[in-house]
Amino acid sequence: MGNPRESALKIRDMARRHNRLFGDSIPLIASENIMSPLAMEMLLTDFGSRYAEGLPHQRYYQGNQIVDEMEEYATELLRRLFGSRFADPRPISGTVANMGVIYGLTKVGDPITVPDLSGGGHISAAKFGAVGFRGLDASPYPFDPDTMSIDPDGARKLILEKKPKVALFGQSVFLFPAPLKELSDTFQEVGCRVWYDAAHVLGLIAGGKFQDPLREGAEIVSGSTHKTFPGPQHGVVLGQSDETVWKHVQRGLFPGVLSNHHLNTMAALAVTTAEEMEFGRKYASDIVDNAQALAEELHSLGFRVLGEKRGFTESHTIAADVSEMGGGKEVAEKLERCGIILNKNLLPGDQGKKSQDPSGIRIGVQEITRLGMGKSEMKEIASLIHRAITKNVTDREISESAAGLKRQFPEVRYCFGKLHAYEYPEFAKGI
Ligand SMILES: *Cc1c(COP(=O)(O)O)cnc(C)c1O
Repeated sequence: MGNPRESALKIRDMARRHNRLFGDSIPLIASENIMSPLAMEMLLTDFGSRYAEGLPHQRYYQGNQIVDEMEEYATELLRRLFGSRFADPRPISGTVANMGVIYGLTKVGDPITVPDLSGGGHISAAKFGAVGFRGLDASPYPFDPDTMSIDPDGARKLILEKKPKVALFGQSVFLFPAPLKELSDTFQEVGCRVWYDAAHVLGLIAGGKFQDPLREGAEIVSGSTHKTFPGPQHGVVLGQSDETVWKHVQRGLFPGVLSNHHLNTMAALAVTTAEEMEFGRKYASDIVDNAQALAEELHSLGFRVLGEKRGFTESHTIAADVSEMGGGKEVAEKLERCGIILNKNLLPGDQGKKSQDPSGIRIGVQEITRLGMGKSEMKEIASLIHRAITKNVTDREISESAAGLKRQFPEVRYCFGKLHAYEYPEFAKGI
């Protein structure tokens, strides 16, 4: 491994190579994004070295006067952007946000209704994830593959039967809105809390391009801030509930699942929230346009793109059944060798299948949209994917075309300032 200095520099070399890998690839993972220059700058600040347990002005350590100012500012920016009564910028990821909500709203053994894994649900809502770790009695909603969303009638029956303490919505393959409006009478009838996990679609909600869960009856909204919301790896919880419920959620977060929260990513989140106020509407609208354009293009090239009846997607995500092209695993690995990065994914109907060998792929356009790509690039990308999978071309031919296309879009858009997206940010001197 060489001497310690060489080892340290080796890690830097890995980071450089990683940046280059992404600089030369088409990034289509639906849960990822790139940060603005000002948000990136926040990550390197001294905020990242400090402790601030609890809430502003009720801390346990000294030295938090500016941290308190920043955290209150972050909270207020979030409240304004989302029009929510409450906001908490402390969760250090979407899963931690969910764990805090679960701790705050439920007791061990409580019934909860959740999205099904094969209908795009997230592991944190599964028996072997956070919901199961809390010992909740989880029942998944039936999913309708025809409309690619939760079946409202089936969900109604389930909720009436199980009388959950909490009804959870929001998926990781989230093509169309959840049926909150359709079920509002049912929620009232059983008196359950409505919790919406907006991890994937938080940026679309911020930009007014997806359902607005807070205006459709959700009392609590949780989310990741690095998927369609183009900020740091972090989480958030928003509340439209009464004060008591909100206090429970905040206590679920701290001291429930957090001790310190991460202040550098919180500052980056605050910056991104301000940028979303300025650029978020246009960004969200361009994302959805691109997703629809790419879905249509793939469909016309012969891909089995799901959700056809409803125009394929109303979000950033596209799901395609590639079981006749070798399956999700083989297709995703082939595309990776061709410089196109996406993931294999379980699809409705995959119930018996392992998540390591599903029939689908998932595609997200939020990162390529952030780089300024538009309709004609969607056409080019669809053609690259198609050629890579169906034509007798070398991986190299495709990866060179992919890198060529990518290099034409080096800059992060929809933000203040300028940044070359995948440039290595050399910081350490004199090593
Ligand atoms: C990504 C995701 C999460 C988890 O977020 P992390 O920030 O990765 O912890 C939670 N719920 C849903 C629906 C997700 O897609």
